[in-house]
Amino acid sequence: MTRPAVFLDRDGTLIEEAGYLDRLERLVFYPYSVDAVRALNRSGFAVVIVTNQAGIARGIFQEAFVAEAHGYISTRLAAGGARIDGFYYCPHHPDGKVAAFTKTCACRKPAPGMLTAAAADLDLDLSRSFMIGDRWHDLAAGEAVGLRGVLVRTGYGRTEEASPGAVAPAAIVDNLVDAVSWILRDA
Ligand SMILES: [Mg+2]
Ligand SMILES: [Zn+2]
Repeated sequence: MTRPAVFLDRDGTLIEEAGYLDRLERLVFYPYSVDAVRALNRSGFAVVIVTNQAGIARGIFQEAFVAEAHGYISTRLAAGGARIDGFYYCPHHPDGKVAAFTKTCACRKPAPGMLTAAAADLDLDLSRSFMIGDRWHDLAAGEAVGLRGVLVRTGYGRTEEASPGAVAPAAIVDNLVDAVSWILRDA
C-alpha cells in the first residue's frame, strides 16, 4: 500500500548545520529531533532523509563517512523509538575534485532525483507528501514533484527567509518539531 512521506533535509533541519560535517563529534541533534521523527512514524508517514553531500565530490570526506553518520543517526533515533525509513544522499558536485563524483547530476537538490528514487523504492504517495528543509533548494526539489514545503528557521533558514526565491512555501516555522506539528494538523 502506498504511504505518504515527509522528506527531511539533514543538515540544519534534523541535525545542526556544521558546514561540511566530516566527523561524528560534530554531529549534533536538535533537542526535539527524535520526538519529531517519532511523531511522524506514529502518524503513518514514511520519513526519508534527502541530503546533498558535495563534500564527497570535493574530497572533504568519503562515502563511508556518510554511511557512518547515517548509522549513528539511526542508532540515536532508535534509542528514542524513532526511525528513518530511507537515507538518500547526493555525492556529486559540478565543480568537484574527485573525478567519479564531479558532474551535473539529477539528484543534487534542487533537482528532485533523490525524491523520485525514494518514491519508487519505498512505494510512496507523493500527492500526500511533504518536504521540510532550511534552504529554498530543498523546497524546490519538493515542488518539482508536487510536494508542499515547510521552511524551518534553523540552519540557513533565517537567511533564506530574508531572501525569498521562486519557491512558495506552504509554511515557514521555527524548527523541525513545529514543521511536524504543522504537517500533522494539515494532514
Ligand atoms: Mg540544510
Ligand atoms: Zn547527485
